[in-house]
Amino acid sequence: MTDKKRLLSFLQETGFLYLCPSKHSSDDIMAGIYLHIPFCKRRCIYCDFYSTTMDGRKDEYISALCHELSMRQHYLEDERIKTIYWGGGTPSQLEERHFRTVFDTLARHYELQPDAEITLEANPDDLTPAYIHMLRRLPFNRISIGIQTFDDETLRLLHRRHTAAQAIDAVRRCQDTGFENISIDLMYGLPKESLQSWEHDLCQAISLHVQHLSAYHLIYEEGTELWRLRRQHRVEEVDEDSSLAFFNLLMDKMKQAGFEHYEISNFALPGRYSRHNSSYWDGTKYMGCGAAAHSFNGVSRQWNIASLELYIKSIRERTIPAEIEQLDVHTRYNDRIITAIRTSKGLLLPALEKEFGKELHDFCLRNARHYLTQGKLTIENDWLRLTRAGIFISDGIMSDLLWVDEDACQDE
Ligand code: SF4
Repeated sequence: MTDKKRLLSFLQETGFLYLCPSKHSSDDIMAGIYLHIPFCKRRCIYCDFYSTTMDGRKDEYISALCHELSMRQHYLEDERIKTIYWGGGTPSQLEERHFRTVFDTLARHYELQPDAEITLEANPDDLTPAYIHMLRRLPFNRISIGIQTFDDETLRLLHRRHTAAQAIDAVRRCQDTGFENISIDLMYGLPKESLQSWEHDLCQAISLHVQHLSAYHLIYEEGTELWRLRRQHRVEEVDEDSSLAFFNLLMDKMKQAGFEHYEISNFALPGRYSRHNSSYWDGTKYMGCGAAAHSFNGVSRQWNIASLELYIKSIRERTIPAEIEQLDVHTRYNDRIITAIRTSKGLLLPALEKEFGKELHDFCLRNARHYLTQGKLTIENDWLRLTRAGIFISDGIMSDLLWVDEDACQDE
C-alpha cells in the first residue's frame, strides 16, 4: 500500500480525516503541530535540547500531552493540520501504545489534511525490524534519522548510542519496509574532522539514496559536556577556514547529487522539502505541545516550561505551563526577516510592504543595498534572497536587516 493510501485508511478508521468539504476550501491556510518527546536513553555531549534520561514517567507524560492537545484544541483556530512532527528528545523511545493514544487524541480534536506530512525523529539503534514494522502500522510517512557522522570514533566521543553500521542498516531497513521519505541529520566541524572525513560522510549519505539531508555545524553550547572538554583543551574546535571549506564541500556535493539547497542547513530532492520546517520559515501557525515546546499563532508566541515534573503537574491542574509573548509589528517583521532570508525562496518584497507597511519595507531595502551592490543579496521578480556568496555571511546580513529600537537601546 502506498504511504498516501495507508494514511487515508488509518485516518478513516480513526475518524481523523476531515470529512466535511463545505467548511474549508482547498487553498485554506493550514497549520502544523509539534509534539516534544523529552526522553533520551543517554545524553549526547554536545546537546542542549531539553530532554531527560528518566524514562519511568512516559505513561504520565503521554497522558499530560494528550490533555494539553485537548485543552488547546482551538489554539490554531480550527485550521486544518498539514504537518505533525514528533521531535525530541528521542520520540523513537516510545512504544506503539503511546503513539496510538496520541493519534487517537488528535483524531478527536483536530482535522488533518489527507496528505499531511507526519514525521518521526528516530535514533538509528531504535529502528529495529520490529520497531519499523510497528511504525508502518501507524500514520507516519516521514522518518528523520539522527546519524550525525559515519565515523565510529567520533560517534563514541559524542556519546551517541549507535555505530555507523547501525545507521546504514536503519536507513536501508526503513526503505525496505516501505518508507519513501527519509531524512538524515549530519553534523560537521566535529573534533579532528578533516575535509576528507567530511567528504566520506557526505558520500556515504548520498549513497543511501535518502530524500532529505539536514547538516549543521557543531556548536559548543555553553554548559554542555563538550563545551567543558574544550575548556579543558581535551577537544579542539575546527578553525574558520576549515568550517568554510566544509560548508563549500557540502553545497557542491549535494548539488552534484541533485539536491536543492532550500534553506541554509537543509537539502532535499525536488518535491521533498520538509513541509513542517518550511512552514516555520514561511510564517505558518504551529502549536507545540509537551515540555519545552514552542508555539506561534501569528500574533503571539509561547513556550512551555522545560521541566518534565512541572509540565505534568501543571497539566494535571489544568493549566498550560507557558510563557506568552505578544508580538508587535517590529518583532513580527524581525521574525519574518530571520525566517525568510534563510530560505532559497527568500523574502517577497511586496508582501513585506503589505504586511508591515512602507516604512519597514524601505528600511529593509535601505539596509540591503550594500549587500546587493556586493553581490551577497539579489532581487529577482521581487524576491530578495541570499546569493551563494551571501550564505557564508547570512547571520551578519540578517542582523543588519533587523529593526532595532534605537530609543530602547539608548535607555539601557
Ligand atoms: S539523542 Fe538527540 S535530544 Fe537526546 S541527547 Fe542526543 S542529540 Fe540531544
